[in-house]
Amino acid sequence: MIASRLAGIPPTVFAEMSALAVRTGAVNLGQGFPDADGPRPLLDAAVRALHEGHNQYAPGVGLPALRQAIARHQQRRYGLEVDPDTEVVVTTGCTEALAGALLGLVEPGDEVVVLEPFYDSYAAVVQMAGGVRRPVLLRAPDFRLDVDALRAAVGPRTRFVLLNTPHNPTGRVLDAAELDAVAQVAREHDLVVLADEVYEHLTYDGRAHRPIATLPGMRERTLTLSSVGKSYAVTGWKVGWAVGPAPLVGAVLAAKQWLTFTSGAPLQPAVAHALDHLPDAPAELAAQLQERRDLLVAGLADIGLPVVSRPQASYFAISDVAHLGWDDGRAFCLALPERAGVVAIPLQGFHDDADAGRHLVRWAFCKRPEMLREALDRLAGARLER
Ligand code: PMP
Ligand code: GLN
Repeated sequence: MIASRLAGIPPTVFAEMSALAVRTGAVNLGQGFPDADGPRPLLDAAVRALHEGHNQYAPGVGLPALRQAIARHQQRRYGLEVDPDTEVVVTTGCTEALAGALLGLVEPGDEVVVLEPFYDSYAAVVQMAGGVRRPVLLRAPDFRLDVDALRAAVGPRTRFVLLNTPHNPTGRVLDAAELDAVAQVAREHDLVVLADEVYEHLTYDGRAHRPIATLPGMRERTLTLSSVGKSYAVTGWKVGWAVGPAPLVGAVLAAKQWLTFTSGAPLQPAVAHALDHLPDAPAELAAQLQERRDLLVAGLADIGLPVVSRPQASYFAISDVAHLGWDDGRAFCLALPERAGVVAIPLQGFHDDADAGRHLVRWAFCKRPEMLREALDRLAGARLER
């Protein structure tokens, strides 16, 4: 009983693997969510908003105070001038910003370039919008953008690049040359860039994320998407936004008004509070995550599951399980809870090129050190060979 627009799209692997973790009591290094709360002042701001009457519908486009705080954030962090009244829309997480953008902008048959491996919702929502995905493979171990492959992916029907940097699941931050190449191709072919920047603040080793909207000629063709979940360790809040030229933001709003109409009212003043008054919290989280990355990366190497490259950002690290005799990372991940009491995510579902992702599995390191150590101990004591 499923409509053709959803045909062939499997249930999200994150729900599947988190349910498996709960069922088996495994340590969940699958779905990317922290196992500790976000900053206390942020939670207090939400409680205040609940008690101060922010409990009815917020304006569909978002509370003015939040839109203004988002505009100030873009200005302060990146020097991007944004009109909070016409160039910002608040959404139910970045997930709805993505869905709103694709449903609001993509005509049936339009091609959307995506970096592969791609976050699973991209494939689903491009298909729901009637679009056609044009993947550009980031190859292990370094997952760099192959500019020739990018150029080859763009044809006469291509209208969008759905860009994700910092990138899930590879943990790459595209460098200046890679970003320049994307911008150049977008300008040459008159493409609109949908820039998913949810990991914008979670970068490591002194690396900085640069929004593609800041590159020459890009502001007018870029819709930047982000959310509060990753930057402030509150993934369950689901408050996100799309920022960019008024016509692009208007298209997101046109779709969003029929999807959710409006997003969680009491959380909006709290997110505004975070952006304005807790500007250092994301960097503190990133410093903590960098240590956790190092703990996981070193521990995985010790037990013969080395990561294919050191993540530069995000919550995630990737290992290749082929040398353990597994020709299928999904089979490995399905066996892992029973063998080791740990859950990881197979990358197959993030790939069109089945061979490229077949042996790769993703670990989330956004967990307390004691949980990471517990997972590593369990893995060390388990039989991991096929
Ligand atoms: N984009 C990417 C790349 C992600 O990893 C996530 C993870 N949740 C999202 C979008 C969705 O963000 P949100 O939870 O704010 O909807
Ligand atoms: N973004 C998170 C991840 O990649 C999960 C979000 C979700 O479950 N949809 O693990």
